[in-house]
Amino acid sequence: MFECEMANLAVVGAGIGGCSAAYFARKYFPDVNVTIYDSQDRIGGRILTYNADGVNLELGATFFNSFNRTLLGIVKAEGLKMTPVKERADFAVWNGSEFVFRSNKQSSVTILKLLAKYQLSLARTFLLLRKVRGQVAKLYTEETKNPADIGEIFEFTGLDEWHKKPFFEVLSEKGVSQAFIDEIITPITRVIYSQNADLGGFAGLSSLIGVYSGATYSLAEGNSTLPVHLAKASNATVKLGQKVDRIEKTSKGTYSVYTGEDMTVFDSVIIATPLELADIEFDGLSLHGWEPQPYQAVYKRVMRGVFDPSYFGLKNSDPPAIVLTTKDADPITQYSIQKVSGGESLVTISSPEPLSKNVFNGVFKNGGVSVLEHCWKAAYPVFKPVTKLPLTRIDKRLMYISAVEPSVSSMETSTLSALNVVRMLGRI
Ligand SMILES: Cc1cc2nc3c(=O)[nH]c(=O)nc-3n(C[C@H](O)[C@H](O)[C@H](O)COP(=O)(O)OP(=O)(O)OC[C@H]3O[C@@H](n4cnc5c(N)ncnc54)[C@H](O)[C@@H]3O)c2cc1C
Repeated sequence: MFECEMANLAVVGAGIGGCSAAYFARKYFPDVNVTIYDSQDRIGGRILTYNADGVNLELGATFFNSFNRTLLGIVKAEGLKMTPVKERADFAVWNGSEFVFRSNKQSSVTILKLLAKYQLSLARTFLLLRKVRGQVAKLYTEETKNPADIGEIFEFTGLDEWHKKPFFEVLSEKGVSQAFIDEIITPITRVIYSQNADLGGFAGLSSLIGVYSGATYSLAEGNSTLPVHLAKASNATVKLGQKVDRIEKTSKGTYSVYTGEDMTVFDSVIIATPLELADIEFDGLSLHGWEPQPYQAVYKRVMRGVFDPSYFGLKNSDPPAIVLTTKDADPITQYSIQKVSGGESLVTISSPEPLSKNVFNGVFKNGGVSVLEHCWKAAYPVFKPVTKLPLTRIDKRLMYISAVEPSVSSMETSTLSALNVVRMLGRI
């Protein structure tokens, strides 16, 4: 707990970042009044669980891993139930006409298969990931001791080395072969960050750390339950359907937060949404040369039916649960196949481009029925190498959680950044 004069706090955005910020603010400043604003009519932002036939379909953020300390800490402290995502071990890489790699359900066998095919490249990639994991561990320690602008913490730990360079340059400098990059690494990064050519180094590395760090999890009742739970636990006033249009610094050093409906003065404000998407006007405040990044779209289409194994050239065997793709399979970046009752499966196809129903031609024996389609118009930044991250502290008590996002976008980084900003507010 902090001794600090914070009486009322506005949080802009009810995604995992904003809800974590409200949660940590309640923990460290028990008496503060917290108000969370979101322009949408729901809590969750880029986390969205849809229940189809008793199966949770995660349309946005899907997995977190055993290395995501902040998220795991919250899940444990709140007694929430998580489930290991076993399907993750059952994957293949499809080049549009055949599988170029198929995992074994036992990960040790998969590693042996990868070693046999790609030899030193796998070992070199593991060594690189071990180094990056060490730096991330240092980031957690440093953030706890010295909460500060996230860019500064990245520099202190050496992690900035990675986001300054293109990912594929980092890999080739380490001697990772082109075949391993094309057939294994690119299919993984294609799913997470659709674009690839000039992908920033830390975005690419963090997608691999997820795979390298053992078990992956999601919330047993759907990931959407996490931000909803945190908003509730924070005891904040949640104002949904209220877009923040303007933030103005007053002569007293407080902040007037304007929505279409009202204006309220707060002594502290946390912005928990990328400024690129927020459309907020700032008065009497400087954004310190902040430069907007372009964002990329992700389209998802889900259908249900009796899966036809011949679609992937299989005879009668089950298809892998997850099929990643090489660029020959453009514009499809991933198939996810979840069994439901009656011998049917739910198949989700993801792409950075709009998908027509025809994209499912041949997937089902019985034609299949549409379940849903969803478009994330701004899923994540088009990750390019970045020389400097935006400031976390925009003004004395005006903080910016998404300052980390030009480097990496994940539930964990939004949650960690939320914890960091609350600690920064406690150090004033
Ligand atoms: C398809 C997809 C798959 C993903 N997969 C994974 C994964 O497997 N694992 C993982 O860790 N991450 C994944 N991510 C990334 C992860 O979803 C995000 O990094 C994370 O959810 C971001 O949370 P946030 O709270 O920072 O931002 P957001 O979730 O974007 O929340 C911001 C909120 O602010 C609101 N808002 C914006 N402007 C205003 C305003 N002016 N006034 C009021 N409210 C405003 C928005 O409506 C939104 O609800 C994925 C993302 C996508 C799109």
